[in-house]
Parts: sequence; structure tokens; C-alpha cells
Amino acid sequence: MSQDPVSGVVTVDSKRCVGCWTCVMVCPFGAITPDVAENAVVKCDLCPEREIPACVAGCPNGALILLDATTETSETPTAVAAGERM
Ligand code: SF4
Ligand code: SF4
Repeated sequence: MSQDPVSGVVTVDSKRCVGCWTCVMVCPFGAITPDVAENAVVKCDLCPEREIPACVAGCPNGALILLDATTETSETPTAVAAGERM
């Protein structure tokens, strides 16, 4: 598991993940999902191949918004393009 120092996006390298599930246990947001069949975890990567994440673009009610780490907001977003159980 690593964090991009510029974007702040956290991603998992599935080739290095050994399926110990430690990150699943410690994540307070339930944002990491074990894939038992693959013996590795899966998590949201914010759709790096897309300009707008698929879940943000596809939500019919505008319930998901994408903020960058520097965005000032008076509201605590309930879901920031994370879908990962989110
Ligand atoms: S399950 Fe999580 S903590 Fe364990 S190796 Fe994979 S990414 Fe790292
Ligand atoms: S939860 Fe949203 S941003 Fe994350 S991978 Fe899925 S569609 Fe993309």
C-alpha cells in the first residue's frame, strides 16, 4: 500500500499484497475490501484513467463529489469518490 506524495491517492500493489488483511482491520472507514479468491485487497483508486471518477460521473443524485486535498470546504463530505464499501 502506498500513497502518491503529490496527489495523496492511496493505491495497493496487488503483486506485493500477501493478503494479511491488516489494512482491512485498521482502516476506520471500511474502505479496503479483502478479495479472498485473489488473496489480495481491493480499494478505490479514484479511476486514474478517467478525468472524472466513474462513480461521480454516474451518480444520478450528485451525492458523490471529488475534492482534492487542498480544497477548503465547510462541509464534511460523506463520500469522496470512494465507493470502496466505499
Ligand atoms: S492485506 Fe493490506 S496490509 Fe496486508 S499485505 Fe495486503 S495491502 Fe499490505
Ligand atoms: S469507487 Fe468510484 S472512484 Fe473509486 S474506483 Fe470505483 S468508480 Fe472509481
